[in-house]
Amino acid sequence: MSRELLQEGYFGEFGGSFVPPELQEVLDYLSEQFHMYKDDPEFNEEYRYYLREYVGRENPLTYVERLSESWGGAKIYLKREDLNHTGAHKINNVIGQILLAKRMGAKRIIAETGAGQHGVATATACAMFDMECIIYMGEEDTRRQALNVFRMELLGATVVPVHKGQGRLKDAVDEALNDLVLNYKNTFYLLGSAVGPHPFPSMVKHFQSIVSEESKRQILEKEGRLPDAVIACVGGGSNAIGAFAHYLDEPSVRLIGVEPDQAPTLTQGVPGIIHGFKCLVLLDEEGNPQKTYSIAAGLDYPGIGPEHSNLKTTGRAEYVTISNEEVLAAFQELSRTEGIIPALESAHAVAYAKKLAPTMSKEQIIIVNLSGRGDKDVEQVFHMIKK
Ligand SMILES: *Cc1c(COP(=O)(O)O)cnc(C)c1O
Repeated sequence: MSRELLQEGYFGEFGGSFVPPELQEVLDYLSEQFHMYKDDPEFNEEYRYYLREYVGRENPLTYVERLSESWGGAKIYLKREDLNHTGAHKINNVIGQILLAKRMGAKRIIAETGAGQHGVATATACAMFDMECIIYMGEEDTRRQALNVFRMELLGATVVPVHKGQGRLKDAVDEALNDLVLNYKNTFYLLGSAVGPHPFPSMVKHFQSIVSEESKRQILEKEGRLPDAVIACVGGGSNAIGAFAHYLDEPSVRLIGVEPDQAPTLTQGVPGIIHGFKCLVLLDEEGNPQKTYSIAAGLDYPGIGPEHSNLKTTGRAEYVTISNEEVLAAFQELSRTEGIIPALESAHAVAYAKKLAPTMSKEQIIIVNLSGRGDKDVEQVFHMIKK
């Protein structure tokens, strides 16, 4: 790999690629292909075509007037990733990577999934593009998420339960990487968040940047100026980096990532290496990645994308935590006030907006990235509220 590409995989001290040599070769080739196609007009035309005709982009930037008035401060706009096909932002990245896989001649897509959301988005796009789809999932997760397993199977995917280790996401990642090393000639590993070794964080950011490309254009049309703050929830960091990307060079725009207070990777993590890259990570007393827990399954990850690790370190973005009670309250308030049921993940961002908005003036603007819709969470919230 050239020195130039290697540097590109770093965000300050974070990122890089810490994998066995046989996997490094596969990643180097992927990196080269990604850099070639990302600026290819035909490739981009096809990507935009599917975003429009299949995902349903562009989605709206909705001014929520009643919520803004009730909070009494900044104007709140929601970027409506919840309205995408499959109900979240993940499909943006899946479509991009599948198109790249096709160009690279892959016939077989593999992915790992924890809660099942990335697995469902991947299985969806594989059905449409007629690709073989193998989803690795920790055995324990397949039991907890039985309905998502069935959903993936309905879409034609094969779900492989991983019994090794603790039967969780980490073990599924290891199995997927083993598969990739054995089958790289016809197989593409489709990673779901802005994490992992280079080039995955850059690639996922590239395909998720459509979120802020649209929101910037939309807010300039509606308000004639940039927002004062952009708020997004942070799991691995893909919806947040997509929502931030086109504002990174606009110093007047505050960028705020919101984590669950039970998985405060950016607020309390230390530099470390997990899953083949360097990032801020929550470690236990023995120096192993800590077991995290979040009521929002999509935010339950002990590490965080390398670019967020660097944005935190340089201070360009701020990261805050929010409690389960605040998340549940925001989930209900947005539903009741605006008729929009958010994903529990996205409700973290809404909850922080509720704290920030009253400290701002009525002329100021907050964009909240509504990463997904809450249909998947209604049953869980029902049990939590009844308890
Ligand atoms: C998966 C998911 C997330 C968390 O993943 P990121 O990579 O941090 O964006 C957030 N919101 C929703 C709706 C999700 O499905």
